[in-house]
Order: sequence, then structure tokens, then C-alpha cells
Amino acid sequence: MAVPRYLGILFSYGADSRWELEGQVESHAAGGVGGVMRIDDVVGSVRRGIRAMEGYVPGKQLSGGTYIKLNTNENPYPPSPRVLEALRQAVGAELRLYSDPMALRLRETAAELYGCEVDEVIAGNGSDDILTIIFRTFLGAGDVLVTPAPSYTLYKPLSALQDATFKEIPMGPGYTLPEDLDAHGAKVVIIVNPNAPTGVLHPRATLRAFLERTQSVVVIDEAYADFAGEHVIDMLKEFPNLIVVRTFSKAYALAGMRLGLGFARCEVMAEMMKVKDSYNLDSLAIVAGCAALQDQEWLQEIVGMIVRTRTWVQQELEGMGLYVPPSCGNFVFPTIPDGRAAEVFEALEKRRILARYFRGPLVKDSLRISIGTDAEMETCLQALRESLTQG
Ligand code: PMP
Repeated sequence: MAVPRYLGILFSYGADSRWELEGQVESHAAGGVGGVMRIDDVVGSVRRGIRAMEGYVPGKQLSGGTYIKLNTNENPYPPSPRVLEALRQAVGAELRLYSDPMALRLRETAAELYGCEVDEVIAGNGSDDILTIIFRTFLGAGDVLVTPAPSYTLYKPLSALQDATFKEIPMGPGYTLPEDLDAHGAKVVIIVNPNAPTGVLHPRATLRAFLERTQSVVVIDEAYADFAGEHVIDMLKEFPNLIVVRTFSKAYALAGMRLGLGFARCEVMAEMMKVKDSYNLDSLAIVAGCAALQDQEWLQEIVGMIVRTRTWVQQELEGMGLYVPPSCGNFVFPTIPDGRAAEVFEALEKRRILARYFRGPLVKDSLRISIGTDAEMETCLQALRESLTQG
């Protein structure tokens, strides 16, 4: 039976303390029939765009077991001991209080570290939260989001949530920035740098040249920038359309804490602040974030170890005859020949080594392998060698 529809009227309580008529909306409620609503009608009330979209599929997270986990670019080393100590100190009765909605201490610490104003910084529950805030701030129905492909697979569902139009522009040879990136009517262009899943770094000069000509808002997702040794936060001073996104999940080894930062000019940030959830960071995350930023020595040490391991792994893979784009992240992205990437991925999983396999047309012939400890990578390389020769 067709769901009866009628034009309902939505009221809301206005700021001036009067009930206001907001407008007429189409409702799927079974008007006038009464009784408990049917589940089909509830699901039928979900926004059309949400029903049509596919949700983001995160990499597998296992509880327990003895896997070598190289599938979500986590850090194989622990967070700074200063972070753990600060967290221990912060666990107590004070948790009954709400966290600071503005995460001021964390934003001040970040502003000092990066040489910008505190009002140019936003803190988030992971950088995914910052990305969500950016998409919600800038993109409405029909607005165009452009990203060079391949890139982070979250951008597509985030665009769908906004009813925005998502356009992927294939990278140039060697996974370089597409030359026509500016020719697609983008309101927002988002670039991962260094890129994920390839690891390729777009040099500052390339990004500067793009910023000098584009009329789009440009988001640079620098989730992996700490492994590359360069970033563009300082370019905010020159380019009002630049927004930079950072995470604590990779180089700071705090993926489980859910911490991210965003940087934009004060006027832009004031708008983004309206969009965030009120208490988007918990008190412990704020404490952990401050301590992590204050221990740059620890960061440099563990980043140095990962970069050394990455250089060695890259050489070993090339020694096996594989093409590996030069990685500036904490992962490598070897091409697996003869259409065998999915098969090799499964062979690794059988040996309890988790890598990441993406099915899209531009990525289906590669595996993304996070950089673990030397011992983990030795086991992984051996398993890869065997899987490749057993073809
Ligand atoms: N951006 C990129 C490019 C990523 O790979 C990730 C991790 N999946 C994120 C952002 C999100 O990281 P988090 O939410 O843990 O900060």
C-alpha cells in the first residue's frame, strides 16, 4: 500500500521566545491513522541522499589476535610517555565536568607550535571531525567538491551527506597533481598531501602555483605531513582560501584518542566554529593533545624510525621488481603485477598480515601497506616474496 503523504508544518522555538512558523515540509508520516509507526515508514523518512549513498568502510580493526596490522596507517610505536603521564594525572573526579567547548589550551599550544593565531585553529575529534566540519560549512546541495584521484575515500560519503556533487580527477603520470584540477567548477578542492594511498608528495611550489590561480577553497589534508618534513600551514598568510587539516592519529601515535586540528584564516574559522559539535573533544583528548604537541623530541624520534624503515621497505619492494611510487607517508603502495593484488592481499591475510586493498579502477592493482616495526616489515616482505613467486 502506498505510504500516505501530506504536507506537515514544522514549527520551532525561536530565539525571541515565540513559536515560529518555519515552513512547510513533506512528511512521510501516516497522517491521521494513528498507532505505532511502521518501520518501513521510519526508514522511508530517511533523507533520499542518505538512502542512496554508500557509507564509508573503515579498515578492519581487530580486538585481540596476533595480526601484524598494516592496514590503517597507525604508528607501530607508542605515544610520548609525557602524553601517558598527563592522561594518568587527568583521570579523576574532574571528569564529571564538561570539557572546554573551545579546547583553548590545545589550540593555544598548536598556534604557538605553528606560528599562527589561536583563532586560526580548530580542534576536532579526529581529523575526520575537522573534515566533516569543513564539508558542512562550505558544501550544500549541488556544490562541487573536486579531489585528485586516487585520494582518501571518506570524501565521497562526506559529499553525499551534503547532497554535493563529488568529482574525482585522475592524477597525472607518477600520481602528480592533475593539470586541469581547476577546470571543474569546484567550490572546494581537497588534496591529500602527501597523498594517500600513493604516498606521493606534491611539492610546496606546485601547491603554491595552484593556490595562485584557483578561485576555489583549497583544503590540504596533511594527515601524513609529519613524515614528509614539509607542510603549508605558513601559507595561510598568503592565501585566504587555504584550509589545512592535521591528525594526531599517525605521527603522534594517538589514533585511539581521536584528535585532529584544522587551520584557516580567522574569518573562515569563525564560520567553521559555528558548525562543530559543542563539546567535540573530551577533556582527556585535550590533555593528550597538548602533551603530544609539547613533546616534539618524541615525535621526531619515532618519525625518524618510521622514515628509515620506509626507505628500506621501498628499496626491498623495488628489488622484487615492483613499482612503488616514492612515499613520503608512513605507508607504501606497491603495484602488484598480473592483476594479482586482491589475491596477494588475501594470501597475506591468511598469514595474519593485514594490508589494505581498495577496489576502485585506479587502485585495484596495488596494496597499501603501513610501515610497522622492522621486524613486522621483515615478516611482511618475506610473505610478499613468497606470495608473488607462488603465482
Ligand atoms: N585524512 C587522511 C588522508 C587519512 O588517511 C585519514 C585516516 N584514515 C584521516 C584523514 C582521518 O584520520 P583521523 O580521523 O584518525 O584523524
